[in-house]
Amino acid sequence: MDAEFVRYETNDGVAVITLDRPQAANAQTPQVLRELDDAWSESDKDREVRVVVLRTVGKHFSAGHDMQGGGDRALGPQRVDGALTVDTYYDWEERGYLHYAKRWRDLVKPSIAAVQGKCIAAGLMLCWPCDLIIAADNAQFSDPVGLMGMPGIEFFAHPWEFGPRRAKQLLFTASALSAEQARECGMVNEVVPLGQLESRTAELATSIAAMDPWAVRLAKRAINGAVDAMGFSNSIAANFDIHHLGHARAIAHTGGQTSVMADLAAMKARNNS
Ligand code: ZN
Repeated sequence: MDAEFVRYETNDGVAVITLDRPQAANAQTPQVLRELDDAWSESDKDREVRVVVLRTVGKHFSAGHDMQGGGDRALGPQRVDGALTVDTYYDWEERGYLHYAKRWRDLVKPSIAAVQGKCIAAGLMLCWPCDLIIAADNAQFSDPVGLMGMPGIEFFAHPWEFGPRRAKQLLFTASALSAEQARECGMVNEVVPLGQLESRTAELATSIAAMDPWAVRLAKRAINGAVDAMGFSNSIAANFDIHHLGHARAIAHTGGQTSVMADLAAMKARNNS
């Protein structure tokens, strides 16, 4: 695999996908997401692979989408006369963000995310698609995009992951959950000391790899299917549209800059002119 920020290694039936961009707290650019998707595809194709581990290098799991542009703007949303438009931005996020999270969730092999430090906003779109999540005791989960006038990230699994009331509190206050709180609400399987994150994840991967892969595949299919029957995928699709009402307002008011302050400043300027 030819990649700048993502490593892919296999050993004894376990594939390890490593996002290695610690200098930017593993923020996700379009290139990073494409490289991650290539690694997921590789694990899917490799017949020797029975379980996939997703991990990142550095203090924090992921700071979310790279809001600095990340140097590869050409891979991002199409602009019309230099400006974002509602339709091209929706199209870009559907292909470039939502599609990946949905696809990784639905790959047939079991997966485990190992999370340390901060997992902010779209960081959740890396670990949520995984079947199991092991968190270091210093992990913190948040989706503070309410501060940018947005309801939540593109892959809106919050009510499913946190439970409705916890999800509301988290989003209404732009606050974070500790690893232990995330475990209490069922989002995280296990919390381990930071120094044991890698070894415990490897141990769990090894025990899954020792199982009958067909049985594991069927169990995954049965559980994801049950969650879908409860409305998960329809809810994700509907909430992506709601997410884009947030972007549409920002595009109308500020040309796309998703910031409440920028929105308010632009509205005030218009009202005064
Ligand atoms: Zn978005």
